Amino acid sequence: MLTNELRVFLSPPNMSGNEQKYINEAFDQNWIAPLGPNVDAFEEDLSSYCNVRSTAALSSGTAALHLAMILLGVNSGDEVMVSTFTFSATVNPIVYQGAMPVFIDSETTTWNMDPELLREALMHRKKNGNLNKVKAIVVVHLYGMPAKMAEIMEISEEFGIPVIEDAAEALGSTYSNKPLGSFGKMSILSFNGNKIITTSGGGALLANDDELIRKARFLATQARDNAPHYQHSHIGYNYRMSNVLAGIGRGQLEVIDERVKQKREVYSYYYQQLCGIDGIEFLEEPDGRFFSNRWLTTMIIDSKKIRVNREIIQEKLEKVNIETRPLWKPMHLQPIFKHYPKYLNSVSEKLFDVGLCLPSGSDLSDDTLERILGHLKEILIK
Ligand SMILES: *Cc1c(COP(=O)(O)O)cnc(C)c1O
Repeated sequence: MLTNELRVFLSPPNMSGNEQKYINEAFDQNWIAPLGPNVDAFEEDLSSYCNVRSTAALSSGTAALHLAMILLGVNSGDEVMVSTFTFSATVNPIVYQGAMPVFIDSETTTWNMDPELLREALMHRKKNGNLNKVKAIVVVHLYGMPAKMAEIMEISEEFGIPVIEDAAEALGSTYSNKPLGSFGKMSILSFNGNKIITTSGGGALLANDDELIRKARFLATQARDNAPHYQHSHIGYNYRMSNVLAGIGRGQLEVIDERVKQKREVYSYYYQQLCGIDGIEFLEEPDGRFFSNRWLTTMIIDSKKIRVNREIIQEKLEKVNIETRPLWKPMHLQPIFKHYPKYLNSVSEKLFDVGLCLPSGSDLSDDTLERILGHLKEILIK
């Protein structure tokens, strides 16, 4: 196979080299368990990087969201306001608890939860006497772009409903110079294989409340009471991160700032090369408060101006072994979620129709970027 035919992936893992050192330590000390020195150190490193008091390293971002729901007491009959424009993992834990997701559409500048629509939804729930059922607002920072946090936190305070940040895609992003993940009552991160840093699979729950995180660790290790025998007064979960994988996380977190820089350079390259084409748009940072880690570069295609649509672009790039992907399909359009209440403005549906994620690996070489751009220009301009 020719080098220029090698597959280009959307966002492959990118190891720093130090991961192996921490894994070897775990092996040398025989700490092959879902706790140990790498877990402790990774938690401390995450707390300090995200500027929060406390972190629990867990088996996935989904597990972190599930524990957040449990810790807030979300139960059957309750409601949770949640971004509709996201990945299903944001919503599933609400349903695990028997609660009802209420979907909130996006605004056009960040593509994240529209604060005006959120307020409208809460006013409407209030009018119908349902406000006391609303236990949380789960706001997602999609593709690394911060949501409008000033407005959302204001609404959270006004209505007395806690915010959970789904920062699975947004480690390294900031809003008003504060790390994402430090705004909510609790926040979650994911270290799945495609995220900006990875432990192959993993996640974390963050909070400025030591007691909440202590409880999260307790529930995540089968909720064992303090007794000489196995005794349980709560339903427990097996959600802890293994000490081996936390070693990968430590090595990855050492290079997070470099990864953000690389991802932002990939975005700038596409932007500079393609923004002049009439009919192509990018997700720009609305103003100086918004700093995105640019986890994935996303592009909006106006097929009236370009004369090819998203599907054709995706197909043509696939033929030359370049992976792209449509934007997330909104949750209110998913067969499993479509019967839940929703507050819509058509923004997420339009984005889903015309948006494409471009290869955004932090290890993309200049040659590979040029190869992708060459194909893109040929498709878009011809
Ligand atoms: C990846 C992701 C998750 C889930 O994280 P896992 O670690 O895969 O469970 C949740 N929300 C969003 C927005 C994600 O992209």
